[in-house]
Amino acid sequence: MRIRTKIALIYTQLTFFVMLWAFAFVYILMIRNTEEVFYDLLWKRAMITAHYNFEKDEMTESAYQDVVERYNQKLMGESHEIINAHDFYEIDSLKNMIPNENDLQMLLNGKTIEYRMGDRQYLGVYYPDNEGDFLVIVSAHDTQGAESAKNLLKLLTIILIITTIFVYMIGEFYAKKIFSPIVKIIKNVKSITASNLKSDLIEEKGNDELSELSRTFNDMILRLRDAFEMQNSFIRNASHELRNPLTAIIGETEITLNKERTPKEYIETLETIQYEFERLNNMIRDLLSLAQTGYDFSRVDKKQVDLSKVVEKTCYNFKGAEINMDIPEYGKYEITGVESLLVHAFTNVIGNAIKFSKGQPVDIKFSREDNNYKISVTDKGIGIPYRDIKNIFQPFYRAGNTATYKGTGIGLALSYKIVDLHNGKMGVESEEGNGTTFHMFFRIN
Ligand code: ADP
Repeated sequence: MRIRTKIALIYTQLTFFVMLWAFAFVYILMIRNTEEVFYDLLWKRAMITAHYNFEKDEMTESAYQDVVERYNQKLMGESHEIINAHDFYEIDSLKNMIPNENDLQMLLNGKTIEYRMGDRQYLGVYYPDNEGDFLVIVSAHDTQGAESAKNLLKLLTIILIITTIFVYMIGEFYAKKIFSPIVKIIKNVKSITASNLKSDLIEEKGNDELSELSRTFNDMILRLRDAFEMQNSFIRNASHELRNPLTAIIGETEITLNKERTPKEYIETLETIQYEFERLNNMIRDLLSLAQTGYDFSRVDKKQVDLSKVVEKTCYNFKGAEINMDIPEYGKYEITGVESLLVHAFTNVIGNAIKFSKGQPVDIKFSREDNNYKISVTDKGIGIPYRDIKNIFQPFYRAGNTATYKGTGIGLALSYKIVDLHNGKMGVESEEGNGTTFHMFFRIN
């Protein structure tokens, strides 16, 4: 069963039972009230019957005529019984008419009694008179009351049925309306495949949960789309970058082998080949490292690593470069991690700072921020154009101002991945032409 039908049914059931309860209450109240009104009528009939039988001698002729007239206007199926309250024989015969012993006793004690047998209502009164004490019992059918009750019951049943159907239809209509975003989402999901992530996305406006769901879903598709595009461009770039040096090597050897060359020319060719092989070698090494970081890092053997020692060690590899660094006291910046990977990450960042500032001094600072160790590498080099900053950590991405600088565009992505594996974050602040600062944050254990 569809959820919208379920909701409509629950809503309908609820309305049905609330209405049933309210209608039953109204119906019972109405029956009680009709009975009360009829007992009042029976009491009047009992009085008129008593006056008719016992008060002729104490009334004027015209008043008695009025009583006779009223006495003759009987109720439907009316019957009455008058007996002497002190005649045990007659009282005994009343047992058929007053089945409840208590009622009979109450009547003999002077109380008015009211009761029902089948569809007949009875009223008994104790009537003291100068001719003796009497019991007057009047009974009749309340046909009008019964008819009204029947009509009310019919009306309430019809209202209940019509309202229930109506409420169900309205429930279905609104449930359909409320669930329409979900139906749209389902339709959309069915039409989405890995190659077709560009399909039109649903955009639900509003602040309710379903709008939030559709927005979350949209965000997820956008993220997936970005991930797919990134993966595609990674493969495109990787194959392009790997093919470039190979094409250069094949071309160079073909041209050289065309004819006999001088030793100098052979040396030049070999140097070109060596240069291209080095490029290829660096790229393959970086790609393998990048692939390695994709392994299950939780299984890699980790140790306590002193970040200040690792950075210091990394700087030794850049002999000749001017690096300003206040080495903090050993042991103050320790994290759990893999030293070789961290050396790789710092080498890329510090190497870039030296490379893109053409050997100007590079500053390295250690600090603590919130619950993190922060290492900042600052240079006064070419900077990164504003439009390139958001993509700078993507593999193979190189900013537009680096055409004259050697590089593969893998190093920074690799550093980013390594810092991320160590539960860290990387950020960049840069201004084109003025320099760049890379910040690396490592959570304090
Ligand atoms: P590359 O091999 O080009 O150095 P990286 O992956 O190390 O590749 O860096 C990616 C890009 O980020 C670089 O091409 C450059 O555009 C930019 N970049 C990284 N570090 C710096 C820096 N210190 N100054 C300016 N640009 C930088």
